[in-house]
Amino acid sequence: MTLFGTPLTVGAVRVLLLGSGELGKEVVIELQRLGVETIAVDRYADAPAMQVAHRHRVIDMLDGGAIRRVMEAERPHYVVPEIEAIHTPTLLDLERDGYTVIPTARAARLTMDREGIRRLVAEELGLPTSPYRFAASPGEYRAAVAEIGLPCVVKPVMSSSGRGQSIVKAVADVDEAWRRAQRGGRAGAGKVIVEGFVAFDYEITLLTLRHLDAEGAVTTSFCAPVGHLQVDGDYRESWQPQPMPAAVLESAQRIAGAITASLGGRGIFGVELFVRGDTVIFSEVSPRPHDTGLVTLVSQDLSEFTLHARAILGLPVPVIRQFGPSASCAMVFDGNVRAPAFTGIEAALAEPDTTLRLFGKPEIAGHRRMGVALARAGTIDAARAKARRVAAAVRLTG
Ligand code: AMP
Repeated sequence: MTLFGTPLTVGAVRVLLLGSGELGKEVVIELQRLGVETIAVDRYADAPAMQVAHRHRVIDMLDGGAIRRVMEAERPHYVVPEIEAIHTPTLLDLERDGYTVIPTARAARLTMDREGIRRLVAEELGLPTSPYRFAASPGEYRAAVAEIGLPCVVKPVMSSSGRGQSIVKAVADVDEAWRRAQRGGRAGAGKVIVEGFVAFDYEITLLTLRHLDAEGAVTTSFCAPVGHLQVDGDYRESWQPQPMPAAVLESAQRIAGAITASLGGRGIFGVELFVRGDTVIFSEVSPRPHDTGLVTLVSQDLSEFTLHARAILGLPVPVIRQFGPSASCAMVFDGNVRAPAFTGIEAALAEPDTTLRLFGKPEIAGHRRMGVALARAGTIDAARAKARRVAAAVRLTG
C-alpha cells in the first residue's frame, strides 16, 4: 500500500512530468487532487502544466545529463513522460537505477520514433499495419515509393501532429514530399517512413488503461472508442462513442491489448487504429494521454487524465462510466502573438452541456492549439456541431 504523505514534506509522493503541455496540465490537476507533489519540466517557462504544479524546471529534455541532474535533485517516485522528444536512453538508465518510468522506459524509447513501434507491432507482434518502408536517403526514398506504390503517406520518423507529413498522390509530388519531411522532422533532416495509404472508413483512438485491480494485479480496461477527424495529420475534432460493430470493437481491443501488454507497465495508452469494413489496422500508439482523448473531460466520469493518475499511483479503476454522445473541437489559432487574450467565452458557454479549456500557453508562433471546446448532446452529430459552435465563439484578440 502506498502512503500518501503531505506534499512539500518528506513523506510526499512525488511525480515528475517530462513535458508540460495541455495534457500534462490535466494530469497534474488530477494528481494535485490526490495530494501528490508535482514537478513539471519542459524546455520553456510558463508551460501549461508548470502553471498548476508545485514546482517546475526548464531544461533541454534531449540532454540526458540535464534530465539526470533534475532527477537527482527531485528524487521523484514516478517519472511521467508527456511528450516524445526526450533523451530516452537516459530513461532506460534511470529505470535500471530504480526509478519508475510510466509506463516503462522501453515504451518511451520505442514510441519516440515511428520506426521502433512500427517494427515491434508489425514484425514482432505480427499485427496488421499499412505496408511500409523506411528510407534514409533520396535514393532509398524513391525506391521505397516505387515499392509501396501511390497513393502513399510520407512522414519523418521523428514527428507528430502532421509536421512534415504528405500524402503523395502523383509522381510529380514525390520529390516535394521528401523535402517537406526533411524540413518537418523533430530532429531536423533524417529518416522517413513511406506508408501505403489506407482508405479507412473511420479512425479511432482506443484509450487503453493498464492499471492495478483491487487485488493488486495488472489488468487492462478500455474506454469506449473515440472517433476523430484529422486535418493535415493534426487532430481537430474527436467524439465518443464512435459507433462500430461489436466484433470490430473486439478486434480493436485485441490489437490494443496485445500492443500495450508488450509495452508493459501501468498508465493510459492512446492506440490509434484505422477501420475499413471489418478490418482493423494499427496506426500509432502513445504511451500516455492522447489529444483526441480530451473528449473524455466531458464524456466519462473518469477522464483519461484521472485514469492515468490512478494507474500511475497503483489505484484501482473498478468501472469507467461513459455519459453518452460527446465531442471535442480543438481551438487552433494562427499568428505571432505574445501573451494572447481571448474574448467570447460568455457566448461559448451559453449552451447547456458545454465546457472548455484554455491552456494558458504564453505565446502563439505560427499555428498553435490554445484550447479545446467540449460538449454533450443527444447524438454524436449534435455534440460535434455544439463543440464546433463553442470553439467558433472564442476569438483571439491580440
Ligand atoms: P500520424 O501522425 O501517423 O498519427 O498521422 C496523422 C493522421 O494522418 C492519421 O490520424 C490519419 O488521419 C492520417 N494518416 C496517417 N497515416 C495514414 C495512412 N497510412 N493512410 C491514411 N491516412 C493516414
